[in-house]
Amino acid sequence: MIATEKKTMQGIDCQHWINGKYVPTKNGKTFDNINPATEEVIGTVALGGAEEVNEAVAVAKMALKGEWGSMPLRKRSAILRKVGDLILERKDELAMLETLDTGKPLWMSKTIDIERAAFNFHFFADYMISAQDEAFHQDDIAIHYTKRKPLGVVGLINPWNLPLLLMTWKLAPALAAGNTVVMKPSEVTPMTATVLAEITKEAGVPDGVVNLVNGFGEAGAALSSNPDVSGIAFTGETLTGSAIMKASAPTLKKLSFELGGKNPNVIFADADLEDAVTTTVRSSFQNQGEVCLCGSRIYVERSIYEEFVAKLVAKTKELKVGDPLDDSSNMGSVVSEEHYNKVLSYLELAKEEGGKFEIGGSKVEGIEKGFFIEPTIITGLGDNARCVREEIFGPVVTIQPFDTEEEVLEKVNDTTYGLSATVWTTNLKKAHTFAGKIEAGIVWINTWFLRDLRTPFGGMKHSGIGREGGHNSFEFYTETTNITVKL
Ligand code: NAD
Repeated sequence: MIATEKKTMQGIDCQHWINGKYVPTKNGKTFDNINPATEEVIGTVALGGAEEVNEAVAVAKMALKGEWGSMPLRKRSAILRKVGDLILERKDELAMLETLDTGKPLWMSKTIDIERAAFNFHFFADYMISAQDEAFHQDDIAIHYTKRKPLGVVGLINPWNLPLLLMTWKLAPALAAGNTVVMKPSEVTPMTATVLAEITKEAGVPDGVVNLVNGFGEAGAALSSNPDVSGIAFTGETLTGSAIMKASAPTLKKLSFELGGKNPNVIFADADLEDAVTTTVRSSFQNQGEVCLCGSRIYVERSIYEEFVAKLVAKTKELKVGDPLDDSSNMGSVVSEEHYNKVLSYLELAKEEGGKFEIGGSKVEGIEKGFFIEPTIITGLGDNARCVREEIFGPVVTIQPFDTEEEVLEKVNDTTYGLSATVWTTNLKKAHTFAGKIEAGIVWINTWFLRDLRTPFGGMKHSGIGREGGHNSFEFYTETTNITVKL
């Protein structure tokens, strides 16, 4: 059961995982996997397309008839808990693969990505035991009760920014609810999901329940249009979400979308400034700004604007961008050459739009290889600047001053996105009333990225469809039958 052949820097060759074993693409085609911090080829990836996807879906469909969906809850829960345990046992190896794939600091892969991936399994292993059905007593006429069933074969399509964390965020509840799945990790970061497949087998998940096809958008598109797939849980760009919706329309699939964002971060004059500055450095640049929840549009009340900008710049100066394997690096490289060029093109655009770089504004000088970009703070841009309106998804934030609550609320909501927002104020009433008026799926008050997996997670407007987390995930990954008994 060896997926892999060791390569430079412990990269692995990634195959597909179908029916409990690793398989190559039928025609043998592969593509190279590049470490974005060194530009070295660290392995090959099997190039899957419709043929591999259709085979994986057929296997998953067959596995729906097996024991998985009807297995006693405690047994299935124990298997999922074991998946979490095995992820932790292989933490160092998985963290290294995640860092080689993404360019993010190794300490971050260990303490955030892999820890949280294991926790996703532990959380849903516990949660499934207490998931409830409903019952309704209709006078003395009838009793109605609900019975939840697995949705069926579910396609899990994921992006590159938090590869294992986001894949497990979908895979754990999908399996907890008794489904069979076909995973499609990002072509840019295939390694940890590929290892996860064999971990599920080792934990006791029967063959055929978990399948994985590596490849580009073509593989995701084949999954989206396959008539035997009942649902697609997708995280990625808004435009890709649209394409998936279109491809899945003829076969009417259930969809859960977690899409792009351009999240506002509002700092009122009465905020705890030190806390706001320290957290804003994180919400701007954590994971090289490649977190969908990063607050990339910062609005600061005019009376503290100069002070806030100066303090944010000073703290940002302390960040070290460099070798992801060096524990003293706060930031590593962005994920790929393509993404690097996209982010740099926005920095050029910012200049054309009249922006001023308070810090950063270019690639990191002095590092010969790799895609490293300076943490960048831009001021002086207007509300209609593309850099203020479009998702850049890199270490780039804009700051604009505001005068009144009404004015900033208007700016905050003047976007097609609606994923998350952060509000900084010590005024309790303002905090709650303002937060309630923001058109976003998640609003943090005086914090950022504080998550409880029981809470609904997702975006409104073009940032998503549906919510995941706690019972919301179960709503998505199950179908409900209402059974009526006449008395
Ligand atoms: P992407 O949409 O380019 O790719 C995501 C996945 O979709 C990849 O696996 C890709 O191969 C696949 N894909 C591409 N074309 C497809 C098609 N036509 N049909 C089916 N699948 C297809 O996104 P990305 O560049 O990998 O990730 C960055 C984006 O993800 C950003 O927009 C970011 O905001 C978003 N994101 C959102 C959340 C959230 O929770 N809302 C979390 C993380 C990332």
